[in-house]
Amino acid sequence: MHSQDLQALDRAHHLHPFTDFKALGEEGSRIVTHAEGVYIHDSEGNRILDGMAGLWCVNLGYGRQELVEAATAQLRELPYYNNFFKTTHPPAVKLAEKLCQLAPAHVNHVFFTGSGSEANDTVLRMVRRYWALKGKPEKQWIISRENAYHGSTVAGMSLGGMAPMHAQGGPLVPEISHVRQPYWFGEGRDQSPEAFGRTCAEAIEARILELGEDNVAAFIAEPVQGAGGAIMPPASYWPAVKEVLAKYDILLVVDEVICGFGRLGEWFGSLHYDLEPDLMPIAKGLSSGYLPIGGVLVGDRVAETLIEEGGEFFHGFTYSGHPVCAAVALKNLEIMQAEGVVEGVRDDLGPYLAERWASLAEHPLVGEARSLGLMGALELVADKASGGRFDKRLAVGNLCRDICFASGLVMRSVGDTMIIAPPLTITREQIDELVALARDALDETAVRLA
Ligand code: PLP
Repeated sequence: MHSQDLQALDRAHHLHPFTDFKALGEEGSRIVTHAEGVYIHDSEGNRILDGMAGLWCVNLGYGRQELVEAATAQLRELPYYNNFFKTTHPPAVKLAEKLCQLAPAHVNHVFFTGSGSEANDTVLRMVRRYWALKGKPEKQWIISRENAYHGSTVAGMSLGGMAPMHAQGGPLVPEISHVRQPYWFGEGRDQSPEAFGRTCAEAIEARILELGEDNVAAFIAEPVQGAGGAIMPPASYWPAVKEVLAKYDILLVVDEVICGFGRLGEWFGSLHYDLEPDLMPIAKGLSSGYLPIGGVLVGDRVAETLIEEGGEFFHGFTYSGHPVCAAVALKNLEIMQAEGVVEGVRDDLGPYLAERWASLAEHPLVGEARSLGLMGALELVADKASGGRFDKRLAVGNLCRDICFASGLVMRSVGDTMIIAPPLTITREQIDELVALARDALDETAVRLA
């Protein structure tokens, strides 16, 4: 089938996620046909460096035959059975064991889901169930952050703090409250980063007191906000947040859907920031995106209560721990271990990207270049000296993103923040290529704005 025919059918029948349906109908979609390593290919014959690892998920890169073989073998052996009631199957059991080996020491259980959104729905159910079992049913409020992304189901969207989603999706799940995010470049430059990190932690404490300390059940956050703009919090933030949560006996939920599985140079972002989460939603890099699977890693405190006191937990999905997805996820983690992928990010590729990425800070359009592990962001500014932003109507981030795509690089825009999160198997040479393509795109963006 030719590209135009596929595009016409796409326009006629396909409603894309997070897309202006009408605008897409007019422009037509790019059709991605195949991929290998860190490159995707489209139906027009272009090869494009995937600086976003799909949607932050293809951690091992494309075309790994071991994952294809793991899926094929499992499809032959047992294509489906469930984990409901009192059944299970080897892939789910082995994956659960592997995950608990990799997780922080106090985490020894996992509940499987089909996605990150379902994982966050599960979090909401578990948090409220936990406090009810503890005889504190009034602990209902969950504190999250503005501009957070925790998924697209009603619970995920309510836990998230994306204003445009809330505007379309009401009424939201009640008793979720959002506090300011530790986004120093965007919102905190009247203070030092350190002072701003503490200010954001104090905002959590103030909200706890406002809601009533006996009414707050949990705080949920990503270690580094991904979809919000690759926002690395100031170093003072997490230690101060940990203190506040401990003071008021509030559960910590660390959303590891993006930061888990090596993105920040540790198996989990929680290990990088020395966090001890009670619950950790996971997905994406768990299977390198080859098949859909997610879950919630459950710390001992919550697990023991749910197990010892909970009776039947009326919750689960047909595809919780799906055998083929679990087999692929297990193989994915085994390959990551055998190839030292996470250590490679921590000791070699992350520091290398940091050095190369920082060189983009010299560009006249860039107000800040930041990275951690293999996640990076560029803040585009109209005035380099003051860090003043462009008029939003110019949509400079989208302009830069489109230029990138056309010149062979997937780089995402969140407003005027440009983001990368390439496969963790990228080489140093490919990092050089990525940075060179990004620099060219910035030059071209500047020319178009002139
Ligand atoms: N949590 C975070 C931090 C995410 O980035 C995402 C997806 O981008 C989700 C949850 C939702 O995951 P899914 O799209 O698999 O439902």
